[in-house]
Amino acid sequence: MTTFADLGLSPKVLDAVEAAGYTIPTPIQAGAIPHALQRKDVLGIAQTGTGKTASFVLPMLTLLEQGRARARMPRTLILEPTRELAAQVEENFVKYGKNHRLNVALLIGGVSFDDQLRKLERGADVLIATPGRLLDHFERGKLLLSAVDILVIDEADRMLDMGFIPDIERICKLIPFTRQTLFFSATMPPEITKLTEQFLHSPVRIEVAKAATTAKTVEQKLVKSGKKDWEKRAILRDLIRAEADGLKNAIIFCNRKKDVSELFRSLVKHEFDAGALHGDMDQRARTTMLANFKDNKLKILVASDVAARGLDIPDVSHVFNFDVPIHSEDYVHRIGRTGRAGRSGKAFTLVTQADVKYLSSIEKLIGEDISWYDGDLSTLPVSSEPDEAPRRGRGGRDKPAPKRRRNEGRERERPQSEIDIIAAAEKSKDIEVEVQDDQPVIHTAEKPNKAAIKAENEQRRARPAPARSERTEPRRDHRRDRDDMGTAPIGFGDEIPAFMLIDTKI
Ligand code: AMP
Repeated sequence: MTTFADLGLSPKVLDAVEAAGYTIPTPIQAGAIPHALQRKDVLGIAQTGTGKTASFVLPMLTLLEQGRARARMPRTLILEPTRELAAQVEENFVKYGKNHRLNVALLIGGVSFDDQLRKLERGADVLIATPGRLLDHFERGKLLLSAVDILVIDEADRMLDMGFIPDIERICKLIPFTRQTLFFSATMPPEITKLTEQFLHSPVRIEVAKAATTAKTVEQKLVKSGKKDWEKRAILRDLIRAEADGLKNAIIFCNRKKDVSELFRSLVKHEFDAGALHGDMDQRARTTMLANFKDNKLKILVASDVAARGLDIPDVSHVFNFDVPIHSEDYVHRIGRTGRAGRSGKAFTLVTQADVKYLSSIEKLIGEDISWYDGDLSTLPVSSEPDEAPRRGRGGRDKPAPKRRRNEGRERERPQSEIDIIAAAEKSKDIEVEVQDDQPVIHTAEKPNKAAIKAENEQRRARPAPARSERTEPRRDHRRDRDDMGTAPIGFGDEIPAFMLIDTKI
């Protein structure tokens, strides 16, 4: 069996690896490190969680032991799609570079230029940057890329998703042709292949898993669902409950930003400990949300693909696909959030009839059929519990719900007239407003059935009369959860005008 000592790394690096507690290199490390040390270009096709960061950090540290940096002329450059990933790579340099005295500079957005300039002035051995901020510095004339000897492009397919490819092409052209390039991507869509053909020189290709395969440690299941969002939400809740204590933490992926907001709101209403992450949130909100999730202060994160891909999300026990992803590569990325570094994980995908074509392209991509969930959710004791929803804005069981501005997370700004309709309707005790397809849909309270009235009356008789002040609380006992009732319009299809659903007293 290959050990780290067999890979040609320097004694200082081997010592740091041992101190980190690693003895056996992962496949991407065993494959990439010897070639990187021989100054060859490397094309590494590996998912996150495979140990790929160390596969470029360790040889870089060894190679950087010769030579020293000059002011404003970094010796090596690592491009990362997001600030969080850039910061994570920096942490790797701290961990594995503990025996080295290297200057590592981080050029990311949201941090003052001055501090970054000071680091550049001192001469950076390693420059870790997001493409935008790097080009900002370059355009201000504060940075020369002519001494870059090693270029690392990490998470190339995420860069593609985030629209960074033109920036990457520009940066590649600013760096000497004679550089060594280490290039990593989890998947190889045609745009990425083109990029590697343009900028890598006879690379050694190391593929630790087939391009776009899911980790073997992830148990994947498909779950049949009706096409209505409320049906999907009900199934999702049952699935989460069915997993019970086995669910340590979970990410739920939606295809659209507005569904992220909707689902998040619905889960909170149902007392799940949930937060949301989507591209319209500002960086600070994203960072806070992510920090809470990482610190286990938040159990469930509802996310869109772009937000989730742009951030480094830790290992989770469960991934739920609220929607089947339209791009099959996204499935691999989503599933890759669980079952990392050999740990086991579960991934459930809700499938409606309309999703079948997307599903078959996913199965084609990953080269296997995903089995159907055979658990009977309808027999769960929790399914039959009355789904009495707490009022909007009330918190989950364990913690208060995050305060949300009325418009937060919506895909478009609502005109004031619409906001007023929603606000007025929400004030009414008999009306709740749901947003469907980005339109407000107003639900009236359901008429209680006879059995429920009887049970309620009996309960009331058994209860002491509430104090006067308590009586001001609106009663909701007979209201069925709006998530669980369709709009059930007759004669209008889905186009029923919202005002026709308002109960009016004559
Ligand atoms: P990465 O794919 O670089 O995000 O790494 C995933 C996780 O694997 C990180 O927590 C690393 O610390 C860990 N790791 C890296 N190399 C090894 C190794 N050789 N053995 C065990 N764990 C490792």
